[in-house]
Amino acid sequence: MYTIQASAYLKETMGAYFHSFANGQNKVAWCTSVGPAELLRSFGFEVYFPENHGALLGATRTAMDSIPEAVKCGFSGHVCSYTTSDIGAFLQGQSPLRKHYGLEGAPRPDLIVYNTNQCREVQDWFNFYARHFQCPVAGIYPPRHLDAVGEAETSLVAKQFKDLIPICEQASGRSFDPDRFREVVRLSKEATLLWQQALRTAAAENPPIGFFDATIHMGPIVVLRGTVQAVDYYRRLVGELEANVLEGRGFLNEPVTRIFWDGMPIWGKLRMLSDLFIQNRSAVVASTYCNSWIFDQFDEADPWTSTAKAYTEIFINRSEKAKMDMLVQWFEEYSIDGIIYHDSKTCFNNSNARFGMPQQLRDRTGIPALVVEGDLCDLRFFSEGQSITRIETFLEQLESRKVTMP
Ligand code: SF4
Repeated sequence: MYTIQASAYLKETMGAYFHSFANGQNKVAWCTSVGPAELLRSFGFEVYFPENHGALLGATRTAMDSIPEAVKCGFSGHVCSYTTSDIGAFLQGQSPLRKHYGLEGAPRPDLIVYNTNQCREVQDWFNFYARHFQCPVAGIYPPRHLDAVGEAETSLVAKQFKDLIPICEQASGRSFDPDRFREVVRLSKEATLLWQQALRTAAAENPPIGFFDATIHMGPIVVLRGTVQAVDYYRRLVGELEANVLEGRGFLNEPVTRIFWDGMPIWGKLRMLSDLFIQNRSAVVASTYCNSWIFDQFDEADPWTSTAKAYTEIFINRSEKAKMDMLVQWFEEYSIDGIIYHDSKTCFNNSNARFGMPQQLRDRTGIPALVVEGDLCDLRFFSEGQSITRIETFLEQLESRKVTMP
């Protein structure tokens, strides 16, 4: 059976990351998953990511118990289920971090920072905690939904990043160190380029990693950006995956169809979906989600502008036109036969099938699309039986299309 050996090292790396909060020696900053983590790390903060906790709640299916708690205290059950599951778990005093990493729960924040480049939901989510902990909070508000990110937008965001300096200095008790910031950005760039290299191995005929495994192996690029640990981890992962490509080893030998997954993972159903595609000899080789942590613009020689640009140019923050251009490139890069859009009930920000993109992209590329309704954490919005039937039918159609096409 095919396994990725680096998984053991991944466990170790993520375990050490969570244990770093346990000794309480360093100040803690909370940050959104595509927030300015490099700047925070340069001040010596341990950086904690509530979205990662939301994903854990989804993957362990404990979100289903915690969401009602947030609803009871006034959050709609139709807003981001990362938000509602995380707040609900906090109100219940529960966390999978206890069982998996021996932590009581989320570490107490000294500073909370969010970036609305992904959605406005994070603003309410993070402000809930700022009120609760009576903790300083700061937001970055970049322009949204642009075709192209130019100098005006980049300088605006770079200025907002710079405005964080006094806030970080006060919360950390340290002065800003430009050399340290440059070094953290350099490490972050190294890790993100390795992550890109790891994902690109899936372009091989026998892909050694697919979307479902990548959602697990992306842990360090989300929570450990800007550290040596992330660089070490991805060096090891890339080494293994590239060796597998050379030897023609993959998780599904000679897949009949190659799929692109758009939108959020359905965390509580990763295993079921992974098995379903494999049984149908289909490989989900690429995704918008995993590609969202490639920041190849990072440049330690110009850390403010390059991080501002990279964090504003992310897929989720772009216009439909820019998103489609990116998808077309990925279709070519990964030899895609079909795309599945996950229309996530509680995250319209990362659901791209609502304004005609599937039809437009099909007209432009000829690549068939299927829309699957579900959710990142709230499984009440996912009909398993119906989804299996629709996915299997779609894969069969793709397969016969490949046979009949000249
Ligand atoms: S992008 Fe979607 S899933 Fe992520 S925090 Fe925002 S609403 Fe929630």
